[in-house]
Amino acid sequence: MRRDVTPFATEIYDVIVVGGGIHGACAAWEAARRGLKVVLVEAGDFNAATSANSLRTLHGGLRHLQRLDFQQMRISIRQRREWLRLAPELTRPLRFVLPLNSYQSVARVALRVNDLISADRNKAVRQDHHLPDGSILTRNEFTALFPGLSVPDCSAAAAWYDGICLDTERLQLAVIAAAVACGAQVANYVRALWPLRDGVKICGARVSDELTGAGMDLRAPVIINAAGPAIDGWLQGPRQFNASRAFNLLVRKLPFRDALGLRIAGGTYFIIPWNDYSIIGTRHLQGDRLEVSREEVLGFLAELNPLLGHLAIDEVYGVFSGLLPAADSGGADVALQRAPRIVDHTAQGLRGLYSIVGVKWTTALWVGEAAARRACRLLGRSERPVRERALSECVTPPGGDSARVVPDLPVVFGQIAHAVREEMAVHLWDVVRRRTPLYLSRSLDHSTLAACASVMARELRWSPRTTAAEIDTTEAELVAFKGHWRPEGRLRYASSR
Ligand SMILES: Cc1cc2nc3c(=O)[nH]c(=O)nc-3n(C[C@H](O)[C@H](O)[C@H](O)COP(=O)(O)OP(=O)(O)OC[C@H]3O[C@@H](n4cnc5c(N)ncnc54)[C@H](O)[C@@H]3O)c2cc1C
Repeated sequence: MRRDVTPFATEIYDVIVVGGGIHGACAAWEAARRGLKVVLVEAGDFNAATSANSLRTLHGGLRHLQRLDFQQMRISIRQRREWLRLAPELTRPLRFVLPLNSYQSVARVALRVNDLISADRNKAVRQDHHLPDGSILTRNEFTALFPGLSVPDCSAAAAWYDGICLDTERLQLAVIAAAVACGAQVANYVRALWPLRDGVKICGARVSDELTGAGMDLRAPVIINAAGPAIDGWLQGPRQFNASRAFNLLVRKLPFRDALGLRIAGGTYFIIPWNDYSIIGTRHLQGDRLEVSREEVLGFLAELNPLLGHLAIDEVYGVFSGLLPAADSGGADVALQRAPRIVDHTAQGLRGLYSIVGVKWTTALWVGEAAARRACRLLGRSERPVRERALSECVTPPGGDSARVVPDLPVVFGQIAHAVREEMAVHLWDVVRRRTPLYLSRSLDHSTLAACASVMARELRWSPRTTAAEIDTTEAELVAFKGHWRPEGRLRYASSR
């Protein structure tokens, strides 16, 4: 996968996909699988926005059961199964446990209905990724699973299985690589500026190469606008994405093997065991600011701590935050949009433009497929895929026998050169945050960053000045992720542990 924008100005495409988050990646793949000529442009790096900040849960849609929305529930079940099938290396089954103080019989019926509706949940999934039936646990069983936890009035617990993704960044890169393998042309650091039209029809998009500043006109009769919270910004049309804030805390690994659900102050939060950490969330807030303040982290901890014991702010290693589409902008509580939408802009005189308002990482393949099929219909082309859905490239990064970058993660220096040559890494932060999990290392420091930067400098012919600037930017990003809410302000980004 090499970044090459030279064909962009001369080729005629069928579809332009704007945005390289999970929805754009899936839409590009699904369109390319149907034989369409696709180009995908991403303003920053792939998977750098909302898609890199989720709770990593592959939801089977149990919540849709509460509202008796069987259609969305079935979509979630199928999509969870699809990720478990496509990427067993990067996904796992995980048991979720929610303590109950009443409604045990209701929970029992709900779990049974869930099992029945998802009877085909393991079809074609590797045996060791099968999801067992749900069950009701006794209070003693619950206490044994979650030692030290004090949940008042817990009389039993509901247990069910969902999926978890161990590395959403790599899985999404694999989707982009799969789109490329089907013929799609893709580039990060290319921003869509405005749509081009011919009367009431879309005929392309003006884009800018963010690395050189060069402007180009991409030609295509269809645009799939998958710019996430920015879908409205570059179109300057009516608002489709009503932003609300959401964040998760990355904390020290809590001694729980299962995911734990907790109902606190009207919200339900999950504590997910994830790699060598736990992730706690998702906390929903009003507004459209991405930054999470120290007060907001402390406020969340203050609500969790009566149940969890003492989780100190120093044990918060990072904050994953993003914007999600709210159902409306009014009211004190955030009401989230429940189902994904594809907006057809024909009524605004933009025939051929479809905007995706996605709600879950889990269902992005389904949404991408729906968008790709609309493109096929408009173009008078067959909606049947001509290529299989299979992920091979990029799911596991190349190992190699070069030296490890940090002692606590199996990342080797060879991966850094590979990320530049084959995975379109352009900046040091692309490598540290998205081509490798180095940002999670507890021993990453200035000298390891400098060593990584020198590999990239050789590959990309950076001057000493550019190399120093790349290290500075990466350190600033690490501080933003790991430490900006701490009392000391600009604290060292490497954990003090
Ligand atoms: C805290 C949190 C927890 C979550 N937990 C879960 C979970 O556990 N399970 C789950 O299934 N879902 C979860 N979600 C939801 C899920 O993460 C999102 O639905 C999904 O990632 C949205 O993907 P997207 O591609 O639509 O948007 P994004 O990932 O935001 O991608 C949009 C991309 O478009 C690019 N872009 C913007 N403007 C332009 C332009 N003009 N030109 C080119 N590119 C442009 C951006 O740079 C960005 O990369 C969570 C979300 C949050 C915030």
